[in-house]
Amino acid sequence: MRSHWPVIIIGGGAAGLYLSGLMEDCLLLEKRSSCGLKLRLTGGGACNLAHEGSPDDFSRHFHEKRAFVAAVAQAHPTMAIRQHFKSLGVDTITREDGKVFPRSGRSQDVVDALLSAAKDVITDCKVEEISKGGIFTVKTTKGIFTSDRLVIATGGMSVPSTGSEGDGYALAASFGHKIIPVKPALCRIKLADRLDDVEGITVPDMSFTLDGHIWRGPVLFTRTGISGPAVMNASRFVEKGMPISLHFAAVDSATIRAQAGKKKALGAIQAVTGLPSRLVQALLPPDVLDKQVASLSKNDMKTITGTLADWKTTCSTEGELPYATVTRGGVDTKDIKRKTMESRLVEGLYIIGECLDVDGECGGYNLSFAFMGAHAVASSIRKAHPLPAPQDQRS
Ligand SMILES: Cc1cc2nc3c(=O)[nH]c(=O)nc-3n(C[C@H](O)[C@H](O)[C@H](O)COP(=O)(O)OP(=O)(O)OC[C@H]3O[C@@H](n4cnc5c(N)ncnc54)[C@H](O)[C@@H]3O)c2cc1C
Repeated sequence: MRSHWPVIIIGGGAAGLYLSGLMEDCLLLEKRSSCGLKLRLTGGGACNLAHEGSPDDFSRHFHEKRAFVAAVAQAHPTMAIRQHFKSLGVDTITREDGKVFPRSGRSQDVVDALLSAAKDVITDCKVEEISKGGIFTVKTTKGIFTSDRLVIATGGMSVPSTGSEGDGYALAASFGHKIIPVKPALCRIKLADRLDDVEGITVPDMSFTLDGHIWRGPVLFTRTGISGPAVMNASRFVEKGMPISLHFAAVDSATIRAQAGKKKALGAIQAVTGLPSRLVQALLPPDVLDKQVASLSKNDMKTITGTLADWKTTCSTEGELPYATVTRGGVDTKDIKRKTMESRLVEGLYIIGECLDVDGECGGYNLSFAFMGAHAVASSIRKAHPLPAPQDQRS
């Protein structure tokens, strides 16, 4: 294997593999024994690789990084990603909710297609140190390589068994890049006050208030807190000890009283809210739930309606990073050119994918951002080194 390359890519995940397939001549270095380990887990093994919609819609799902993401989304929109996969033999379908998956429903097909297009790959090869004189020097567990251009595509810090252990932060920092502190995103939220025996219950449609916003959707109760799409999207905003209010049901006392008959409070509440009895029992005191509706006092009613409308506690996402879907934080985007993903600090250095301080919502946005960044790097390098015109190739 030669030691000098025009381009070296560090990391064989979504971004690195996609880029390798777009380049003419490059070396990809992957520290695990196979590439795309995280990619295989995506979308529950089905790989939600993109989301239907315009580039503008797309970038709206990236919070404060909307403007940063917009340029790469314009240059390589969802349709282009789908076409690229089609050219690799992976047909895609769009679900009713706009999420795009491989038609086969198998993330392994996406990994295999990307691998088949990838150029030279060395696995079990961890990059330990990078430096630049005139060219880049890349020290790895399998020797030293050099390159004209270097791409860091090492991912974030979630699910570290897939190889994403935050190595890219130290590598980028060694070139002077600022690292925004990392925290989990798209993860469960832990609640300070535990609700007993509610694990596994899903409320199909409820809202909660966090960080001044109201979030709505199905909420799943876990051993330590809550999960579900809205919870995951909200999780990036959680700071330790932040107040959270869960709005189970808006119900007034007259509606409960109308259930009087022979019903006890528990039955009446279930009848008017549709909430499972285990959840109602976890929220409200047993002596109140056991009363006949007719004998509920004003105070009892206040407890019932107040708790169901606005159950307050505090929350955190501490310790969730290894289990999160993505990492918030990473290489500061202020030092990255948004059209090319090239470093403003080091010419010829590029940083793409989740290693950057960019995190999108659930729905295929994070994989797409990894692919879009890869495309931006490939275009930038191709512009700097255009392929010879056909007549030049003949001569
Ligand atoms: C369970 C799960 C499900 C997900 N589902 C979806 C989904 O359906 N849709 C979606 O859009 N997003 C999803 N995501 C998020 C998405 O997978 C990531 O955002 C995306 O993989 C990031 O791509 P990346 O290339 O930046 O990093 P990664 O895919 O994490 O790849 C980084 C690679 O770099 C390698 N590496 C790291 N350090 C070194 C080093 N020093 N030397 C050599 N190699 C190194 C790693 O081994 C790894 O292979 C999911 C994430 C998880 C955890």
